[in-house]
Amino acid sequence: MVDRAYFDWNATAPLRQEARTAMASALTRVGNASSVHAEGRAARRLVEDARESVAGLVGAEARNVTFTSGATEANMLALTPALEVAGRNEPRDRLFVSAIEHPSVRCGGRFTADQVEELPVEGNGTCDLSALKIALKKAERPLVSVMLANNETGVIQPISEIAEIVHADRGVLHVDAVQGPGRIDCNIVALGADLLSISSHKLGGPQGAGALVRRGDVHVGEPLIKGGGQERGARAGTENVAAIAGFGAAAAAAKATDASRMAALRQRLETGIKSATPTAVIFGENVPRLPNTTLFTVPGLKAETAIIAFDLNGIAVSSGSACSSGKVQASHVLAAMGVESTLLRGAVRVSLGWSTTEVEVEQFLRTWNMLTGTLLKEKRGIAA
Ligand code: PMP
Repeated sequence: MVDRAYFDWNATAPLRQEARTAMASALTRVGNASSVHAEGRAARRLVEDARESVAGLVGAEARNVTFTSGATEANMLALTPALEVAGRNEPRDRLFVSAIEHPSVRCGGRFTADQVEELPVEGNGTCDLSALKIALKKAERPLVSVMLANNETGVIQPISEIAEIVHADRGVLHVDAVQGPGRIDCNIVALGADLLSISSHKLGGPQGAGALVRRGDVHVGEPLIKGGGQERGARAGTENVAAIAGFGAAAAAAKATDASRMAALRQRLETGIKSATPTAVIFGENVPRLPNTTLFTVPGLKAETAIIAFDLNGIAVSSGSACSSGKVQASHVLAAMGVESTLLRGAVRVSLGWSTTEVEVEQFLRTWNMLTGTLLKEKRGIAA
């Protein structure tokens, strides 16, 4: 059997040991975090400790963290016309989202379709700031959602600059920061985001937990899930204590992660890809990118075929395309960047993490060297 090497950290990261321990311990307890007895108070303690850790990861106050079932829910919770600013009801009349957002943002949350507008990005994958400035004039009270870093390309957006532009026009800024923690700084104050979504399983916690974090003044006026008064009325339902405890432990570990090791491995990976296939294109290569992500293609490569070939050789990579239903579609991210159609379906995403090793990177490069002949010959055959 071939040793497997996992290079799909942007899809989900392995559970950190700290998270596993915290969850195992939480699962041995009984107690609803809303109960007043000792068991309930102990469960509450776990939730509140986790809230402190998650808040610490993004430089927020613990009381401004609302736990959710993941970033999809956090995005849905944030993207609502019903926002309050400084205690005043200030409903949003339009939602602007960048064209490269995750589907959970692009769907427009709780806005009607005619209230949602997509903002273009430049060819390098960063938000078109002049288009943003023009768009903002169309709204009285805009809500803008731009991601911190793209899950496909890893391209980092100039969020603090975007925040200034948005705030200058009475706007509120939501940032989907899912791909940031443990890789780049995600301080909500430095970013200037009003609302920020994060997901547990991208930073080494369990799947099915996440949070919407507020910086200060902006409140979501209408919960997405109504019922009991959990999460200060912002999200009803008995807390998933074990998952939240795991999320908290992972958040503390992610804060302490040194991303420079990851960056060095990614550099080795990209140098190796280019030396094996000099015509390789690395998307977003010349703009700030996450230190763990490489989205690349070679003219003639078909992503589906490449991913299957890698998988058969023990390597888990993914396509740059949305393939949540297992079916690879052309990437809306690359399409928005104006990538020519011949390259659109050939992008392969390699994403690393804190436990990726040099041995794994070398295994990837050996496999790429071995496969490239077949994968590209096949194309030459078709083209001939
Ligand atoms: N936003 C981005 C940028 C993501 O990459 C993902 C996960 N693919 C999500 C949101 C959704 O997160 P979750 O899986 O926690 O719902």
